[in-house]
Amino acid sequence: MSLAADGLPPLREIVAAHGLDARKALGQNFLFDLNLTGRIARAAGPLSGVAIVEVGPGPGGLTRALLAQGAARVIAIERDARCLPALAQIAAHWPGRLEVIEGDALTIDPARLVAIAAGAPIRICANLPYNVATPLLIRWLEAQPWPPFYERLTLMFQREVALRIVATPDNRADYGRLAVLAGWRAQARLLFDVPASAFTPPPKVVSSVVELIPRASPEPTDLATLSQLTLAAFGQRRKMLRQALKGFAGARGLDLGQWLAEADVEPTQRAEEIDASRFAALARTAARAAQRP
Ligand code: SAM
Repeated sequence: MSLAADGLPPLREIVAAHGLDARKALGQNFLFDLNLTGRIARAAGPLSGVAIVEVGPGPGGLTRALLAQGAARVIAIERDARCLPALAQIAAHWPGRLEVIEGDALTIDPARLVAIAAGAPIRICANLPYNVATPLLIRWLEAQPWPPFYERLTLMFQREVALRIVATPDNRADYGRLAVLAGWRAQARLLFDVPASAFTPPPKVVSSVVELIPRASPEPTDLATLSQLTLAAFGQRRKMLRQALKGFAGARGLDLGQWLAEADVEPTQRAEEIDASRFAALARTAARAAQRP
């Protein structure tokens, strides 16, 4: 049997040997091209001394690339127990460097990941299962305390979602709640696209790798108020804010005109014209006003 450059069997053979037919319900679109998984791993930056958290290693294509690139440790969270024997084979090849957690990444306590990383800085790198990609990103962006438990996210999304993450008020069609959350807490940028043909089975859409680097000091605000504010503002995105935010302000006893003026926002502006830090400032004043007796 011929071996791949990392000394392990080629991924297609591993998938065949373990009967890992891809399941749609688990968002399984596998990458078999080790050049491509190498490119994604390199995008996560120099990995020496770094602990990588990978969601959904599947048969281990990206996992192998991360280990080959020198990650001190890979902590891989996989929901599909069928993948565990294939991952055990990789763990045996790189003794002490791959820890597999069987479970749902949405429910794993970050404290557990921090304990396993044992002091090494954590980065998250994954070809995310598309069905839970956005909820996972929101969880990581809403992490408390801040700065978060990770120093960088390098993640593959459907291109349409990637564009909604990195959008600014200059890209109105894509700019919305997700971009406000991402832009407030992180510096987000699109790194490169990956064609559907790179996956097995190929999805219907192009994918993109996105990098998010947490801001050390995002504009202070109240997270819950920010979420309610952007829900109200983008819920009526074509309307001027003086109309779209009437209910939000009324429910909190805010003088709408005064509140917007304090944050330097014109009542005739629309949600898609307001950048993330301005939304954060609006939410901060709203939360402060709501606390007044
Ligand atoms: N990393 C592999 C690759 O690039 O070929 C597989 C990526 S595939 C798009 C997504 C993987 O996430 C699958 O292995 C799937 O079983 C796993 N997965 C799906 N939902 C999950 C969840 N909630 N928690 C952890 N893993 C999950």
